[in-house]
Amino acid sequence: MAECSLANGTRGSKTPPTKDGVTAAELFLEEGLTYNDFLILPGYIDFAADDVDLTSKLTRRISLKAPLVSSPMDTVTESSMAIVMALCGGIGIIHHNCTPEFQSNEVRKVKKYEQGFILDPVVMGPDNTVADVFSAKARNGFSGIPITENGQMGGKLLGIVTARDIDFLSREQYKVKLNEVMTPRELLTVASSGIKLKEANDMLQKSKKGKLPIVNEKDELVSLISRTDLKKHREFPLASKDEHKQLLVGAAIGTREDDKDRLDMLVNAGVDVVVLDSSQGNSIYQINLIKYIKQKYSDLQVVGGNVVTTSQAKTLIAAGVDALRVGMGSGSICITQEVMAVGRPQGTAVYNVAAFAREAGVPVIADGGVSSVGHITKALALGASTVMMGSLLAGTTEAPGEYFFSDGVRLKKYRGMGSLDAMETNKSSASRYFSESDKLKVAQGVSGSIVDKGSIHKFVPYLIAGIQHGCQDIGARSTEVLRDMMYDGKLRFEKRTVSAQLRETSILKAKESAVPRTPTIRM
Ligand code: GDP
Ligand code: 5GP
Repeated sequence: MAECSLANGTRGSKTPPTKDGVTAAELFLEEGLTYNDFLILPGYIDFAADDVDLTSKLTRRISLKAPLVSSPMDTVTESSMAIVMALCGGIGIIHHNCTPEFQSNEVRKVKKYEQGFILDPVVMGPDNTVADVFSAKARNGFSGIPITENGQMGGKLLGIVTARDIDFLSREQYKVKLNEVMTPRELLTVASSGIKLKEANDMLQKSKKGKLPIVNEKDELVSLISRTDLKKHREFPLASKDEHKQLLVGAAIGTREDDKDRLDMLVNAGVDVVVLDSSQGNSIYQINLIKYIKQKYSDLQVVGGNVVTTSQAKTLIAAGVDALRVGMGSGSICITQEVMAVGRPQGTAVYNVAAFAREAGVPVIADGGVSSVGHITKALALGASTVMMGSLLAGTTEAPGEYFFSDGVRLKKYRGMGSLDAMETNKSSASRYFSESDKLKVAQGVSGSIVDKGSIHKFVPYLIAGIQHGCQDIGARSTEVLRDMMYDGKLRFEKRTVSAQLRETSILKAKESAVPRTPTIRM
């Protein structure tokens, strides 16, 4: 380094050339990069993390206060997941590895959801036994069970069984039928459908009861309110809602002829956005379906994909999509890149498609490959508007499926929709990855399980806070500012060496062994 004497006599040195990282355009000039291959350099902080506004566009017309989307997979999103995702500011996309009736009913449950009302309570009939109540309690954790004539929701209300009715029964009495132990209808405090939560709260307080069944004019059960829920009643200021104050929900469909009937049923159920579910979206089938939907339901928002290149994006944008889903083979359970030899590293795919789609005002959903909150911030910094997650949300209370134990660890199943396991369950899944006539199915996904992570009621707020802190370190007050900084070249990136990446992997592993609730995929 050349040294020089300064005029005032102090010794100084010529400043060597320095460079704080590169722009996104420079970062993605050459080889394909995943989220782990780079970091974002910190900026200047003059605001609190809480002040970071994460409002982002899901589609041209739908905005979310949290840029988080749960994936349409049968081990991730049904109504329970979609309800809590929407309450927390994101949205859930109901999977289609099921009958159209089941899927549209799940959509209806989200649209009908009213905070505090249990719309689908566990119900039994008069001939069920005390033993049935105890096993329901062991399974679900509650024992307040309404009894209806046909043993189902919508049946005529006959009474209710609560812990107090069965607590002191001996083992021999477990065979006793519920009509002998239940509190009968004439002794119950019930409310009529249409009651507001506040009024129901007052009724429960006055009656000093634990449960309030809600019935219609024919005395048929329509929902249930639990005192415990009123006590823990919470506000959800970020909730994603439509103009009727109902929660927003999406649903996935395929691109076959019979998916048009499925679409009609989903629209009747009130779906806000449909996601055309295809691992390679640049096809004549998808283009035709986009045009068909736009003509038949001009108000319905349509997400096309999946795409990873600008030329794929170009055709779908021309066909009229309202958002693009980006990712091919980057998901945690995907083996597409290995088996089909096609795909693209997710960082490169998101950056290129988002930059291209931005010109047309089409938002991008970065789908898959997200295994930590930092990956979400990176996806947003590369131009994605929202981020879709599978494995990160699987294994939670709200994910479909029962928990089971293996080697003393509580687990839930998580499987790729292109796994043989999922394709055997229903042909919708097979249609995402194959044509029906394919004789030999080659799996593009694997099946495994994920450690119990608790409820997303806690997990999603953690993700939101994590993104806010990331944006604060970067110096971006909002996701919009974050994207502008990236396109202006103010956001600086740096590639990481293999050893830097290994460090992150080992830290994650250490955390997994220390904190049992951290997501662990066991294949
Ligand atoms: P119980 O008195 O044994 O029924 O239990 P609690 O009233 O103390 O708690 C029941 C909790 O489980 C509440 O938070 C309910 O919202 C929730 N829950 C969810 N689904 C159902 C259901 O189908 N029936 C009942 N009784 N509770 C449910
Ligand atoms: P994750 O969040 O687990 O990394 O990825 C979830 C995403 O993986 C889903 O949203 C979907 O796009 C994709 N995916 C789901 N199942 C399969 C599969 O079996 N094979 C492939 N290639 N991708 C899948």
